[in-house]
Amino acid sequence: MERADIQTHPKTISRQGSGETPPKKHSGHLEVIIEDFELLEIYPMSNELDALIEELVIANKILYNEGVVDGFGHISVRHPSKESRFFIAKSMAPGLVSAKDILECDFEGVIHDPENRKSYVERFIHSEIFRARPDINSIVHSHSPSVIPFGVTSQRLRPICHMSGFLGSQTPIYEIRHTAGETSDLLINSQKLGKSLANTLGSATVALMRGHGSVTVGTSIKQAVYRAIYTEVNAKLQLESMKIGTIEFLTDAEAMATAGMADQHLDRPWALWKEKALSQHG
Ligand code: MN
Repeated sequence: MERADIQTHPKTISRQGSGETPPKKHSGHLEVIIEDFELLEIYPMSNELDALIEELVIANKILYNEGVVDGFGHISVRHPSKESRFFIAKSMAPGLVSAKDILECDFEGVIHDPENRKSYVERFIHSEIFRARPDINSIVHSHSPSVIPFGVTSQRLRPICHMSGFLGSQTPIYEIRHTAGETSDLLINSQKLGKSLANTLGSATVALMRGHGSVTVGTSIKQAVYRAIYTEVNAKLQLESMKIGTIEFLTDAEAMATAGMADQHLDRPWALWKEKALSQHG
C-alpha cells in the first residue's frame, strides 16, 4: 500500500527522500521506492509509444478544429527510439485520423506497414526535414489560408504579436520552381524536393511554400501545433493591420524573448484545444 500511495502522489517526495511521506527509519525500503519513482518520471505512461501516437491523433484533430488543416495537410512525430523513422497518418483527412491509421515511415519515404497502406505523397517534407534537423521532433504541413498571401507577394510574414515571436525575423519562402521547373504540380513528392525545402527552411521554425502553404516545426508535437496555429493567427492579424496602417513588428530580441515565454505555457492552450477538438470530433 505504501508503494501505491507514493506512485499516485509522486510529488510528495523528493529524490533525496526529504518529503513528507517516507519515514527515514525505512530508508532501505525507501531506496527501492525512489528508484521506481524515477522510472515513473521517465516513462509516465505504461506504454510510451501508445501515448505518443495518441498525442499525434489528438494533434490531427486539433489542427483540423482550429482551421489549420482541412481535408489536406499532415503532422508527424519522430520515432522516439528507432533511428530515421517517424509516425504519420495514412493518406486521409486529418480530422478523421485515429490511432489505427498511424503508420511508420523511414527517411527514404518508405512506409513500413504490414497492410501495405499508403501515406501522403508529400511525406518527403517530413522525412527530409527530420533528416536535416535533428533538433526537431514534430512537423506540420498545412495550406492554412491566411498564410498563402505572404508566400506569393513581397509582403513578408513577420511576428506581429507576442504569441508568434517564434517566427523570428525570417520566414523563408520556398520556391519550388528552382528545383522542379515551371510545370510542377507544386507538391513535395520526392526526396529531391523534400531536401530543397529543408534547405530553404534552414534553422527557421516556419517556411512558406509559394502558391501552396507552409511547414512548421517544433521540438515536440505540442510546440509544432502551437506554432502552426499561431502562424495562421499572425498571418490573419498582419493582413488586418496592413489595411489600416504601417505595422510595428516585434524586434528580433522581442521575438526571441516572447518565443521563450510561450514555450513555458504550451500545456495551457493544448488542454483547451484538445477539449474543444475531442468534444466535436472525438
Ligand atoms: Mn500540401
